Amino acid sequence: MGKYDVAIVGGGIAGLIASIYAAKAGKKTIVLEQQKQLGGRAITQRKNGAYFDLGGHALYKGDAVQILQELNVELAGKEPSSDAFGIWKNQLIPLPMNFMSLLTTPLFSFRGKREIGSWLVKLRKLDTSQYNQMSVRDWIEGHLKDPMVRNFFYSLLRTASYVVAPDLQAAGPVLRQLKHSMNGVLYLDKGWGALVKELRNKAEEFGVGFMTGNRVTEIETKDRRVEAVKCADGTRVYTDHVILTTAPEIAYKLVPYADQTSLQVWKDQAIPITAACLSIALRRLPKPKNQFIYGLDQAVFLSNQSRAAHLSDNGDQVVQLIKYQGTHTNVKIDEQDLEQTLDLAQPGWREKLVARQFLPRIVVTHDFMHMKRTVNPGPHVPEIKGLYVAGDWVTHGELLVDAAAASAKRAVEHLIAYPNQEGVFVGGHRVVV
Ligand SMILES: Cc1cc2nc3c(=O)[nH]c(=O)nc-3n(C[C@H](O)[C@H](O)[C@H](O)COP(=O)(O)OP(=O)(O)OC[C@H]3O[C@@H](n4cnc5c(N)ncnc54)[C@H](O)[C@@H]3O)c2cc1C
Repeated sequence: MGKYDVAIVGGGIAGLIASIYAAKAGKKTIVLEQQKQLGGRAITQRKNGAYFDLGGHALYKGDAVQILQELNVELAGKEPSSDAFGIWKNQLIPLPMNFMSLLTTPLFSFRGKREIGSWLVKLRKLDTSQYNQMSVRDWIEGHLKDPMVRNFFYSLLRTASYVVAPDLQAAGPVLRQLKHSMNGVLYLDKGWGALVKELRNKAEEFGVGFMTGNRVTEIETKDRRVEAVKCADGTRVYTDHVILTTAPEIAYKLVPYADQTSLQVWKDQAIPITAACLSIALRRLPKPKNQFIYGLDQAVFLSNQSRAAHLSDNGDQVVQLIKYQGTHTNVKIDEQDLEQTLDLAQPGWREKLVARQFLPRIVVTHDFMHMKRTVNPGPHVPEIKGLYVAGDWVTHGELLVDAAAASAKRAVEHLIAYPNQEGVFVGGHRVVV
């Protein structure tokens, strides 16, 4: 194969975005993806005419949307209505998602309503970065007085991040995500697979090459400098720059002497977040009002994404349910919990069922900002010239796909700005030389 300026390992959202930035900057770029299909965790599968993402996906109006706009990537989809219910003691109760519902909800006392009202205003202007070193639990217990308001915020922050670890999770990034959600989220027509397709088209416009169905097995280096990418079928792609967008433990395995690089710390400190996801398509909703539900005393969430996006070819309703998983989880119980949520919200759903997909334990993000983190990963691996990382775990305060997109942009910006930068570890501190 010819030589490339940039080789990107992984064709998910991070890899695709990185490829567009690199090619736009005039770099000869190739994306290497082990699966036959591009998209990674953002693929969409069709079942009986319904479009199922790998679990419910919502695009927050944050870093990723800004980057997609900057790259002129078109997004087809709509903002869903935010009218929502909460599950409390096995009952559905209207939630205060705006000032009108705040007045009418029976869930909160007058004092609680006043507290929520004031936070709905304060949050919009809040400098959330001041809470990057504080846990979610400390933020909630220290800033909110009413116990039911605290429950409400635990549920909102869990839903915005998928994380069920209030003592570990840093409050700043997830409060920032909550702020983004106040500007509305987007459900995408035909699912996130449509976004992947748009990104691929854009990348091809800029001349990006693709090699799919071929697993990268090693990053070859010489004199601590990237030289080539080796694939499972023996193919070698010669290049000066590699951007790894795989999970941190895979990145670690691909790189020789990774134990002498920052990849060791980044892998060791990473805490992956998983969820159980039930997606269903129903001929029609037995209870059309119950479309958007937050668990308050249980870690579940339900959204009928068809209320905003085109997700089936024949008018079926695509409903996404999520059970947020902590470290201890029981897949059988998770599935039962999700079905019980459906029994409560949409009784009789089984008779209307057209298609179903259950993912018992899928990794939503490979890492997030937490209290045990000692250093933010990336953009470059300072010990090896020409090696970079991107992906949702390479977060500098962003969450989920915002982190995937922002880290992809950071990696390419770094690669262009400092093409020959190399760093070393001195006494645990990274020094750039
Ligand atoms: C259930 C669920 C719900 C989610 N909901 C939301 C949401 O509502 N909002 C939001 O913002 N985000 C959400 N996310 C997160 C979002 O999907 C991810 O952050 C994003 O898709 C990650 O993109 P990525 O490119 O970093 O990683 P990936 O998509 O995992 O891409 C990495 C790619 O690398 C490839 N690869 C790995 N090893 C190799 C190798 N050796 N050789 C070649 N290729 C390799 C993989 O096959 C994969 O395609 C959700 C995720 C899940 C699973």
